[in-house]
Amino acid sequence: MSDHDFDFDKPREECGVFGMYSAPPNDLAWLTYMGLFALQHRGQEAAGMCVSDGEKFHVEKDLGLVTQVFDERRLDSVRLPNARVSIGHVRYSTTGSNLRFNAQPLTTRTNKGILGLAHNGNFVNALEVRKEMLNEGALFATTNDSEVMLNLIARESHMDLVEATAAAMKRLRGGYACVLMSRTQLIGFRDPHGVRPLVIGQRPLENGGDGAWVLASEPCALYAVGARLIRDVQPGELVWFDRSGLHSLMVEAKKPTPCSFEWIYFARSDSRLDGVDTHESRIRMGEQLAREKPVDADVVVPVPDSGIGAAIGYARESGIPFDYGLYKNPYAGRTFIAPTQEARELKVKMKLSPTSAVKGKRVILVDDSIVRGTTSRQIVNLLREAGATEVHFRVSSPPITHPCFYGIDTAARKELVASTHSIEEIRDLIGADTLAFISERGLRQAIGGPGLCSACFTGDYPAGTPLLNDVDKLALEV
Ligand code: SF4
Repeated sequence: MSDHDFDFDKPREECGVFGMYSAPPNDLAWLTYMGLFALQHRGQEAAGMCVSDGEKFHVEKDLGLVTQVFDERRLDSVRLPNARVSIGHVRYSTTGSNLRFNAQPLTTRTNKGILGLAHNGNFVNALEVRKEMLNEGALFATTNDSEVMLNLIARESHMDLVEATAAAMKRLRGGYACVLMSRTQLIGFRDPHGVRPLVIGQRPLENGGDGAWVLASEPCALYAVGARLIRDVQPGELVWFDRSGLHSLMVEAKKPTPCSFEWIYFARSDSRLDGVDTHESRIRMGEQLAREKPVDADVVVPVPDSGIGAAIGYARESGIPFDYGLYKNPYAGRTFIAPTQEARELKVKMKLSPTSAVKGKRVILVDDSIVRGTTSRQIVNLLREAGATEVHFRVSSPPITHPCFYGIDTAARKELVASTHSIEEIRDLIGADTLAFISERGLRQAIGGPGLCSACFTGDYPAGTPLLNDVDKLALEV
């Protein structure tokens, strides 16, 4: 499905968003389905879309993968022959539990007509704003923080939709990227630091004209619908599309600090975000890691698939051959929740098995991150059982010591092995001969660009932290 291990010991992306504005005739329902399918790695628990032709406004959403939610019958139910606007969403529940009513897009009726919103990221002051609004008599139907944004937009009844959205952006803080639609407009916006990604694409019309405008969390979703990348939405920028094309308003720009984990792990390796190619940056991380943490060995082996880019870079820089020492079962997607330790170990074996490339070899095992460390230990064991004489673990991100408040489920702080253990203790825990992580400075060099969020490594949160003590992902369930 993608180069991601869905339920391995990894941080999890909250959501992917998608939107299109197109002159009819078209099949926006089908195109939105294709865009969401390309973004499936960003959320596997729910999917949904809204489609409008300027009058009708259809919504479908449910729990499950894109292909499970949208069978032919359901896709038909949102299809409109003269559709002009659509948005879509894939979700992993970071805020609000995995309940059907938390699936997106969220919709509401306002004096600006019916609106649909799909949201990636977190508003760190959503709980506070929600409580204020509840005291003023506002009503909330869900427990997710996207509804706070939608309510803020709705209550600015004297403003037009673009002005109201800009006002809501100024009120909420955090890391977010959203797509919003009315019956006639598509809007996209990104937080002032640009923590979460959002790109603009265009799909040409065969007979000229603007064709279709596309918004997506990653360029892979643009390519999936035949569009080309035009540019990133800038941090703090609001863009909108209507019959006269693309418009832009800079609402509030601060120092750009996009999420470094997009390049380390989340984004697909064919993506390019904020001008930085994902695959190439992963190779540079591996090269940097080899310079910083060299070790004498016979073979460089990636943890598939997300460790491949860094392993290529490590091998290139060190001159030690790259090889596939672990086979990943391509049919192992989401599996059962393993109730016992034995079942959890079998689950890893169900997904990964060692190849003959490691037998009798000193192995450098390259992975993108260590969260809890439980899976890392099992992978080291697999290699030893297959005859590896030494296992040297190299990680292309710094130790994760702090939770993320901007839409990534890195696990609670107490579950982060690097927040409670030294590197030597982690090495002992996972049973490797040596263990080393890339430095934060090295990571910045490898990714490049004007700035980065690296709060989960440093605790330095560029877009603020929740104002109230309760930072649990279910905090909005009051
Ligand atoms: Fe990304 Fe970490 Fe920043 Fe969260 S805290 S946005 S995961 S770099």
